[in-house]
Amino acid sequence: MELESILLPGIENNRPLVIAGPCSAESEEQVLSTARLLAGKGLKIFRAGIWKPRTKPGGFEGIGVEGLSWLKTVKKETGMYVATEVATAKHVYEALKQGMDILWVGARTTANPFAVQEIADALQGVNIPVLVKNPVNPDLDLWIGALERINNAGLKRLGAIHRGFSSYDKKIYRNLPQWHIPIELRRRLPNLPIFCDPSHIGGKRELIAPLSQQAMDLNFDGLIIESHCNPDKAWSDASQQITPDVLDYILNLLVIRKETQTTENLSELRNQIDKCDNTLIEILAKRMRVAREIGTYKKEHDMTILQTGRYNEILDKRGSQGALCGMDADFIKKVFEAIHEESVRQQMEIINK
Ligand code: PEP
Ligand code: MN
Repeated sequence: MELESILLPGIENNRPLVIAGPCSAESEEQVLSTARLLAGKGLKIFRAGIWKPRTKPGGFEGIGVEGLSWLKTVKKETGMYVATEVATAKHVYEALKQGMDILWVGARTTANPFAVQEIADALQGVNIPVLVKNPVNPDLDLWIGALERINNAGLKRLGAIHRGFSSYDKKIYRNLPQWHIPIELRRRLPNLPIFCDPSHIGGKRELIAPLSQQAMDLNFDGLIIESHCNPDKAWSDASQQITPDVLDYILNLLVIRKETQTTENLSELRNQIDKCDNTLIEILAKRMRVAREIGTYKKEHDMTILQTGRYNEILDKRGSQGALCGMDADFIKKVFEAIHEESVRQQMEIINK
C-alpha cells in the first residue's frame, strides 16, 4: 500500500500525536469552550462527532451539518485542526465543503464494505488524511480491506485507529483491546500510523491513563481521546470523557520509550532469545517423535488416538507448573493445546499409513 505522511503543517512528528475533543458536538458553546481549553493545553487537533451511530434508537444521533460550522469556528478561533467522522457519501461532501482537515471512519462503518466503498468513491482524488477505525468485530482483513478501498481511491494519507472489539461479555473493557490485532496490523503495514482510542476501549475514565501508556509501550503513533468541558453532562459516552485538565495531566504522565535501542546488551539478549527458540523447536521435534511412537503402539493395540483422561491431566499439570514458574496458567494451557493438536495430527498420519 502506497502511503504518505498524515502530518499537517505545524504538527511535529512526536509520539504521541494527540487528537482530542468531545464524543459529540452538542452546542456551539460546548464545542467552543472545550476547544479553547484544549488549545490552551497545547493540543493541535480537535475531534467531534457530528453524525453519531448509536446502538439503540432514541438516543442523541448527532447535531448534523449545523455542527460543522461550529468546527469551522474552532479552526478560526483556536488554530486547531478539526476532525470528524463520516459514514456516508453525503457526510463526506458536507465535511469537505466545510473544510474539515481530517476524517475518520467509525467502527460500525468499517465493518460494512458497501459503506466504505461509498465513502472511498466520494473521496476520490481528495488528498485529506483519513483514519480508519477497526471494525467492531476482530477481523484484521476487514480492517485492512477498508484501508485498501480508500487507498485505491487515490488517498495515501491514511492511518488506523484501534478502538477495541465488541464482545458479548463486557467485563473490564467496553471493547476488548485484543492488542495482537493492531500488532499484526503493524507487521503487515509497517508504515501505517496507528492511533489508540482508549476512550472507546475502556468505556470509563479510569482506564484512559493505563490504556494510553500501554499503547505507547506498544509503539503506537498517536492517541484519540474524548474530552469534554463538562463530561458528566455529555449527551453521549459521558462515563468515558475527561476534562481537558485531566487529559493534560494524563498526557504529561505518559512515559515515552524509544523503539530502537541499539545497545550491545540488547543484541546479546536477543541472541539468548534465539537460542531459547532453537532449543524449543528441537524439544518439540523430539516430543513429536515420541508421539509418533505412541501412535505406532496405539495402532498395534487398536486403541483410539484421543485418550481424554490423559489430555486433561497434561493440561492441568502443565498449567499449574507454568503458574509456579511465573507464567499465566491459561497461556500454558493454550500452548499445550496447540502442542497436543499437532501430536494428534502426527499420530493420525501413523495410524492412516
Ligand atoms: C466515536 O469516536 O465517537 C465513535 C462513535 O467511535 P466508534 O466508531 O469507535 O464506536
Ligand atoms: Mn464516543
